[in-house]
Amino acid sequence: MQPRLAQTQPAATPAGESLRVAHLDADAFYVSVELLRHPELSGRPVVVAGGGPRSVVTTASYEARRYGVGSAMPAARARRLCPQAVFLRPDFPHYREVSKLMMGIVKANVERVEVVGLDEAYLDLEGFHSPRAAMRRILREIALQTGLTCSVGIGPNKLVAKVASDAEKPAGFVVLTREQACARFAGAPPRLVPGIGPKTAARLEEMGLRTLAQLAGAPEALLAERFGANHGRDLTRRARFEHDGEVAPVREAVSESRERTFDVDVRDREELGEHLRRMVRELCASLAAHRRAGRTIAIKVRLDDFTTVTRARTIERATCEQETVAAVAAALLREYDPPRPVRLLGVRVTGFGGGGGGGDGEREAGGAGASGQLALPL
Ligand SMILES: [Mg+2]
Repeated sequence: MQPRLAQTQPAATPAGESLRVAHLDADAFYVSVELLRHPELSGRPVVVAGGGPRSVVTTASYEARRYGVGSAMPAARARRLCPQAVFLRPDFPHYREVSKLMMGIVKANVERVEVVGLDEAYLDLEGFHSPRAAMRRILREIALQTGLTCSVGIGPNKLVAKVASDAEKPAGFVVLTREQACARFAGAPPRLVPGIGPKTAARLEEMGLRTLAQLAGAPEALLAERFGANHGRDLTRRARFEHDGEVAPVREAVSESRERTFDVDVRDREELGEHLRRMVRELCASLAAHRRAGRTIAIKVRLDDFTTVTRARTIERATCEQETVAAVAAALLREYDPPRPVRLLGVRVTGFGGGGGGGDGEREAGGAGASGQLALPL
């Protein structure tokens, strides 16, 4: 493994803004991993999707995307759009292995890494003399050791970095200040920005706000009236690419979580349950791989009106068993019974090392009320 990169002065952009956050995202991860072991499929439309009647596409190769096949689409629809595609079942244990290798390379080079999925991470580049050079080097190492290509976005905050990494996939490498992001995506629809979903976008469109520039310049009072003060302010900030979320390495000794913002808000209980089970499966595999277990299991639910609640329960014995975590998480979700469509769902295990989660997390917190809510940072 290479030595850590030299960390000297922060890199300043012409605007005097520090380029301190990178978002790294493997291109078509599941499909790319499959192509590495099935090189004969390279160049063909390949879709990784489950086999059940309600299964969805997890990833489509860029060849398949040309036929309109996309992630989260029902597999049946993908088959109609692109009958000649090769359909593969997902092999998560293998994807996790490759992910571990990839994230290991990242973590060997950068101190603060926030892994947000099997193939995505935010990197804190504060103090790096050349964030660009650092990222180029990490990309080379990942390509060398795993065969994967990734896209990278670098910016002053997580929001800019994330949108930048999406902008030129595959193998994109986009560096933007906040002002440059505002200029480049001024004409893009608000949905481009994470955290602005299709429903919000539809309401914005009704208000005549069809672009990020229009949203960024919309009167605060107007947005507050339609969306409430908090959500309104959040929309303005996102449209201006303002974001102060830190790159927060999963506090390894404290907790681990998985969460997902849905492309379309989910109302169906069964579907929510499926998402929860999938996240629990991933989470528990990771806990087990790191020999961790926790006593407090929490869910986080954000509704379509931006209400965010968490519910937690502490059990007798630390666990990383999928069945146990899934049962508690499912019970918490059932008890909360989301009163509106859900835009984000998350699950977390805290209280490692035999101790409890600390504070309120120690108590059973399944009921309503502020004391029953654990703070689950984004
Ligand atoms: Mg990806």
